[in-house]
Amino acid sequence: MILQKKVQMERMTWPEVKEAIRESAGIAIVPVGAVEEHGPHLPTGTDSIETYEIGLQAAKKAGVVITPPVWFGNSRSFMDFPGTITVNPDSLKMYVRDIVLSLVQHGFNRPIILDGHGGNYGIFDILVEDIMLEQQVKVLHVRCWELATMPKPGSVPPYDGHGGSSETSAMLYLCPDDVDVDKFTDSKPEIELTKYGSVFPSPSGLYSKGPAVYPLMMGEMVKDGHHGDPKFGSAERGKDLLEVKINALVELLEALKRGEVKFLNG
Ligand SMILES: [Zn+2]
Repeated sequence: MILQKKVQMERMTWPEVKEAIRESAGIAIVPVGAVEEHGPHLPTGTDSIETYEIGLQAAKKAGVVITPPVWFGNSRSFMDFPGTITVNPDSLKMYVRDIVLSLVQHGFNRPIILDGHGGNYGIFDILVEDIMLEQQVKVLHVRCWELATMPKPGSVPPYDGHGGSSETSAMLYLCPDDVDVDKFTDSKPEIELTKYGSVFPSPSGLYSKGPAVYPLMMGEMVKDGHHGDPKFGSAERGKDLLEVKINALVELLEALKRGEVKFLNG
């Protein structure tokens, strides 16, 4: 029972991976994040660190394989802050496509892209459609931050979002030494949208209401690079928030293992 000992593919030999394909019922998680600014208080790897942790803990609980994470994502609209590294959407799509198809070739016929960054969403929606049409393989694209959530404390401002209280909470729990609590600022958007306005990528719920999608750079919205006030975050809330997401992912993985989500190739 290899998956009781380890779930990280890069820590296995090839015969162990062969065994793991059977034990995991062909399920392998491919975590994808981003390396981009998250305000003056959070490290640039926030999305990838959080996503990998959620995937790893869920893989252990559900007994499925997880691949090494893809650190970089599509962060073009964050490029007005240093530390952001962006990958062209076409390159990202082809890179993740190669990873997924390598898994499929060896018998992981239920790959999951665990996506921890809003700027990647549209890209992987198209990718899973491409793979379905070309390879007759159905890949799940799981939007990590939409897996499940918890109500925010009532005092959290409505513009809370990217780098705000939730991400700060998760990072205070996972790597407190990398959170600069002396740099917490209340970062309020400087742009008011009309009722028609909506922004892509949307850094907070405030910007995803109207039907007209308007592209903006992060620096045009907030000078500090985050939305919200990180002082409303806490390690305790971070622990709970991660647990809720991990449990939701475990539930999904277990349903997949039981064959409750239909797969053409399953
Ligand atoms: Zn983030």
